[in-house]
Amino acid sequence: MKCRRCEKPAAIKMPRHNSAFCDLCFRDYLHKQVMKAISDQRMFEDGQPILVAVSGGKDSLVLWDILIKRGYPTVGLHLNLGIGEYSRISQAHVEKFARSRDLELIVQSYQDDYGLGVVDIAKETARPPCSACGTMKRHHFNRIAMEKGFAVVATGHNLDDEAARLLGNLLNWQIPYLKKQMPVLSDEGGKWARKVKPLYRLPEREIAAYAVLNQIDYIIEECPMSKGAKTFLYKEMLNRLEENSPGSKLQFYLGFLKERPSAFPQQIEAETQRCASCGQPCGGDLCGYCRLIQRVGAS
Ligand code: SF4
Ligand code: ZN
Repeated sequence: MKCRRCEKPAAIKMPRHNSAFCDLCFRDYLHKQVMKAISDQRMFEDGQPILVAVSGGKDSLVLWDILIKRGYPTVGLHLNLGIGEYSRISQAHVEKFARSRDLELIVQSYQDDYGLGVVDIAKETARPPCSACGTMKRHHFNRIAMEKGFAVVATGHNLDDEAARLLGNLLNWQIPYLKKQMPVLSDEGGKWARKVKPLYRLPEREIAAYAVLNQIDYIIEECPMSKGAKTFLYKEMLNRLEENSPGSKLQFYLGFLKERPSAFPQQIEAETQRCASCGQPCGGDLCGYCRLIQRVGAS
């Protein structure tokens, strides 16, 4: 099979485009998809410093690779969640990536800060691990971005993540979540760092192929806490649909983004308060993170 653009031998088949690309044209195609996402959603301006949340998985490392190759000023942020071997290997991949490209990386370790990993914190507070993990990640992404002067935090969420999340939100009619599901989460007038997802147009399969073609070494294992998560079932269902009807995943998600403002209009949120302990915006006296940490007895 030949590359659709340059006729060289193809390196990857692209069923959703009914064609194939060589490695250079594939790289070019992938970069263009990311640049289109950034400009369509007005994620950030040229030259604006970006804090890239890197887990050690393929998505966030590919995102970081593309942003630096496109000339964006970036700093990586890795949160070591303290989940045994999984966290140790994840951090090693991130550090190797940053070292080999001479990039600035901030690492924060839950074990060092709290003496506990995220699973123990969840146990102590009787919260499901992923719920405690999400609360903590949000807090630290925002805190570190604000402390270091970043207006934007970029994460590696891809098309499969977003389409699976959309399917889950629709199956459970989670209207408040549907109103908020977007590739850009507002900074609410500078109260938060803006969260952006520049890979939202790209399926997992293409990101994994880019990682292999560009020698990006990443942790292949999923987080052990994700076992049995419904997301995997939703992804499997969407993949079956995609096999039968290439392009349907992107159509599903882009269609939602187009219709969302009229189908699920966002209300103007009531003025949020500031957390009495950490100062981040929240709905009551204390934010979810500070309530969690108080229950653990750490600070
Ligand atoms: Fe955190 Fe792991 Fe759950 Fe993801 S799967 S939210 S990394 S605990
Ligand atoms: Zn707080």
